[in-house]
Formats: sequence, C-alpha cells, structure tokens
Amino acid sequence: MKYDYVVVGGGTAGSVLATRLSEDAATTVLLLEAGPATGPDVMAVPPAWPALLGSAVDWNFHTTPQHGLLGTQLPYPRGRTLGGSSSINAMAHLRGHPAGYDAWGVDGWRFDDLLPYFRRSETAAAGRDPKYRGTDGPMRVGPPPVRHPLAGAALAAVRERGFAETPDLNGAEPEGATWLEMNIADGARQSAADAYLRPVLGRPNLTVVTGALVTRLVLAGTHCTGVEYRVGDSPDSAEAERSVVLTAGAVGSPHLLMLSGIGDPAELEKAGVTPRVALPGVGRNLQDHPLTGVVYSASRTMPDGANNHSDLVAAVRTAAGLEAPDLQLLFLDIPYFRPPLAGPTSGFTIGFSHLYPHSRGSVTLASADPTVAPIVDPALLRDPRDVAAMLAGLRLARHIGTAAALDPWRDQEVLPGPAATSPAQEEEFLRRSTGPYFHASGTCALGTGSAAVVDPTLAVHGVTGLRIADASVLPTLIGANTNATVLAVAEKAVDLLLGREAAR
Ligand SMILES: Cc1cc2nc3c(=O)[nH]c(=O)nc-3n(C[C@H](O)[C@H](O)[C@H](O)COP(=O)(O)OP(=O)(O)OC[C@H]3O[C@@H](n4cnc5c(N)ncnc54)[C@H](O)[C@@H]3O)c2cc1C
Repeated sequence: MKYDYVVVGGGTAGSVLATRLSEDAATTVLLLEAGPATGPDVMAVPPAWPALLGSAVDWNFHTTPQHGLLGTQLPYPRGRTLGGSSSINAMAHLRGHPAGYDAWGVDGWRFDDLLPYFRRSETAAAGRDPKYRGTDGPMRVGPPPVRHPLAGAALAAVRERGFAETPDLNGAEPEGATWLEMNIADGARQSAADAYLRPVLGRPNLTVVTGALVTRLVLAGTHCTGVEYRVGDSPDSAEAERSVVLTAGAVGSPHLLMLSGIGDPAELEKAGVTPRVALPGVGRNLQDHPLTGVVYSASRTMPDGANNHSDLVAAVRTAAGLEAPDLQLLFLDIPYFRPPLAGPTSGFTIGFSHLYPHSRGSVTLASADPTVAPIVDPALLRDPRDVAAMLAGLRLARHIGTAAALDPWRDQEVLPGPAATSPAQEEEFLRRSTGPYFHASGTCALGTGSAAVVDPTLAVHGVTGLRIADASVLPTLIGANTNATVLAVAEKAVDLLLGREAAR
C-alpha cells in the first residue's frame, strides 16, 4: 500500500506526527506500532507507574555492564504500546532551562524557536502566563490537584535551606522549587496517545496498525521509499509518497537505521548487515540522566500518594557561577532505590539527578535479525565530571534532608546511611545506587557536523525521503525530563514536513 507518510513507532513523537499530518483529510498517513493498541488497566493509574517497568508494555531492554556502576547491568525500560514511553513514564511535564537548548547551537532549534511548539502541544493550568504556556494544545498539564503532605514539609525544608522557589518551572523563571506539573487529566495518566491519537482514530485518512514490527527501511539507492514490517509472522510493506518519518525512539530509531544499512560501515559489517549509507553517528552519543537519592525511613505512617510520588520538584545550581541549574531534586513519597541495595518499606526519598551529563554511550547492533535487541550502553557515571556533579547533589540532598521542617517525617537516613561520610564512601554509594532516569536521547543527533545524523530539517544526512523526529535527535540532554521536549520536537517536525513556519 502507498501512503503520503509512513510514521514508524506510535510513541510520544509518533502520536503527534500521525495526528497532525492527518489533519488535512487529503493526506494519507500510516502509523506502525510494534506494541499493542492498549496496555493493562493499571497504565491509567498514576501512582502505579513503577509497576509498568518490566511489564508486557515494556521492551525490557537491559544495559551492558555499566563501568561507572561497578559493572552492574540494569533494566532499561522503553514503552511498547500506543503512546510508547509516555504510556509507562512517570508523567512529569517539564521543559529544560533555555540555556540547554541554546547550547545545541543549531539554527532553528534555540529555545525561542521551540517555544511556539511547546505552547502548541499543551493546555496549561489556568493562570499560567500565555507568553510561555499553551492554552489549547492536546496535552493537558497541571500541578497535583491533591498534594501528598510530605510535599508541603519538603517545600518548607527547601525554604529553610535557602533555595529559591518559582511559580512555574515551565515559565519565565525556570529555576527553583515548585509543584511538579504532570500529564494527569481527571486523575488518569494522559499519554501522548491519549492526548493526540485516540481522539482522531476515526479519521478515514489515518491508518494505525499495532503489533507491527518494522524490520527494515526500503532504500532505492539513497532514497527511502518505504518500510518492511511484520504483524506476527506475516510480512508486509508500505510505500511513502512523501516521507517515512522515524519515531521509534532513542533505542528503536538507530536500531532500525542500522538494520537498514545506515550507520558506521565497520560496525554494520561486524553484525552481518551490508552498509548502504555511511553515517558513523548513528547509535553513538547515547545520553541519559543519572538518578539516585537519599532514602529515609519514616517516623509516621506514610499516606499513599495520589500522583506520580513526587509532587515537589526543584531545579538548582550545585555551584555559583553556572549558567543554569545543573541539578534536579525530587521529593518522593516512597523509598526509591534499586537492587542490590536494601531500604525501608516505609519512607521517603530526596532524589537527585545531574542535568547535563558528560558521559556518552551507544546503541549498537547485536545481530542483523530485527527481533534481537540491540546492545544498549548508557555509560552512566562513566565520566568523572558526572560523578563530581552527583557528589555535589548527594551533599545537597542530605543538607535538605536534615532540615528541621522534615523532623516530623524523618526517622533516620537509611541510604547511603549515617556511616557514609567520607568522599570515598559517598562515591561508592553513588556507583552502587545510581540508575538511569529513562531519558535516553542523542543517538541520531541533530546538527551539521560529522557526528550528526539529521540536519536542521530532521532529514537524515545522505538520504532522501527519511526524517527522524523523536528523542534520538536531541544532540545533548536538556535540563529536564524529556517528554515535553519530544512533544515540541514532533510538533516542529510537522511544520518542517509541511513547509510551514510557526507563528510566534
Ligand atoms: C519508565 C520511564 C519513565 C519516564 N518518566 C518520564 C517523566 O516522568 N517525564 C518525562 O518527561 N519523561 C519521562 N520519560 C521519558 C519520556 O517518556 C521519553 O523521553 C519519551 O516518551 C520519548 O518519546 P519517543 O517518541 O522518542 O519514544 P517512545 O515514546 O519510546 O516511542 C517509540 C515507539 O516506537 C515503537 N517502536 C520502536 N521500534 C519499533 C519498530 N521497529 N517497529 C514499530 N514500532 C517500534 C515503540 O514501541 C514505541 O511505541 C520516562 C521514560 C520511561 C521509560
């Protein structure tokens, strides 16, 4: 079958692309998604999001042994259903500080260029500044309607320690502590599929096929004419009259390029794939935010959280003189830690994450067989500068954690534990406890240099008829969780495909 556009991957970005491109009834769009149309009912229940990790709607990738984490291999969740990772994520809706986008140095991709698309994607809570915030976009965004009581004490602790507050981290003052905005509408998760795609599934010019694993891009020379895919054991193919748009995510998009012969020729040959287009940046430059936290046992019964377990968030600087906040703090109403650590059953966590990591990992082919997972190495804490930043974060989290305002909640520090006070013990804790924040980015980086995979119009270098429009194109991580930025990237991709300019 022939369509104007074939969109590969129905996740955060794919939901935006398929919906917006099919707004014109004369344009035909095929959306192919490997996962099922819907997931378990619990997907809709915000505080249950951790239960989705490792579930049937997770690709269940694992990392390579992480050198920076004492050789540990970790699960690396990615959503596998309509909505993609926005169907299993923690629903935090945050933009990064403008400096993070401006640092990309790519024409057309500075924060001010992206602002119209951030606004277009969302409907922000009443009272937000419309200069910065959307008023009629599909994604409904707001602070928690009912807050966990711990969040109030945590805000008092932040104040006690002298940190700034902001009315809106997504607005004019992107620094300080505030109530976290979330993709929760009427008490339920709002994935990108819920916000964008499901309301338009009846459009006759939009075809959505789920359970469809795209196995290869079809190339005629260096022109991408369509894709091959499988539903169960049945092979099929689709042609794209105007463009194939790759939105398979920061693991899936480079994987598919490499399976199709687009990548570093030596790497491709090693896996038994014939090189078609030499593009060495494909799969390189994988970045994720490192995340861990100081865990306290609770001195009183912890009420159940109604939202995503972190009603308060802060973007702070670990040192004076930085251009922008470099650390995110999360105030979690649960003990959050990963194996092999042991923590309390009832407690709370001051989570922290370095926002601009220097470590660079990769996604590489393990096999030419498209059903075999690629090798995923997020290289967490590989670069010593990331360890230094996380050490500063640990000290800052502990400083806030001992504030008098938390006395009514704190029993004692369990992780790293009061005995861990020397720099060596602190570093050991970081390496034993840090995990990914699930913000995989950078594997098909936007730019014009030799490491770039897509140009400023999101067209793949050296290939026609093929664009990429998901988290893989972020050249470096932005200073926040990634979902809101991927929505904006996808909104901009629509304008680029249609040759439109955003109204400012
Ligand atoms: C557990 C978790 C928690 C997170 N928490 C937050 C948060 O609170 N806030 C935030 O901002 N961000 C969060 N993120 C990150 C955020 O959700 C992602 O950055 C965002 O969803 C990425 O969008 P994407 O379109 O690039 O990829 P995805 O949304 O992952 O979509 C890719 C889609 O492509 C499909 N696909 C892949 N390969 C193929 C193929 N070969 N054939 C067909 N289909 C394919 C996948 O099944 C998937 O549906 C979290 C992510 C995870 C995993």
